Amino acid sequence: MSHITGLTLGGITWTPEFVTRINQDDCIGCGRCYKVCPRDVLDLVDKVTDEDDDDDDGGDAQVMTLKNANDCIGCGACNRVCPKKCYSYAPSAAVA
Ligand code: SF4
Ligand code: SF4
Repeated sequence: MSHITGLTLGGITWTPEFVTRINQDDCIGCGRCYKVCPRDVLDLVDKVTDEDDDDDDGGDAQVMTLKNANDCIGCGACNRVCPKKCYSYAPSAAVA
């Protein structure tokens, strides 16, 4: 199976690895990945708690989500800045 590949400016082939998952259990909602992403892939949203009520459960926590994974170019910048290493990646099969 062939994967989607790109070319560097010098003409060298490379294989981008695209975001497949953000580990929201480890995410601290710092937003660093959002700031460096050059595409419209990510979004910071309110964390869904087990008890969605008005109790004092520290309820303003946020986590990063994949808003539009299909816009990812596989640059890997998000994981380079993530202090919790939340990101998983994989190459993607080329469309014939
Ligand atoms: S790999 Fe690059 S384009 Fe994809 S989500 Fe991370 S920073 Fe954005
Ligand atoms: S950089 Fe990591 S910890 Fe911070 S918001 Fe992004 S995924 Fe979460």
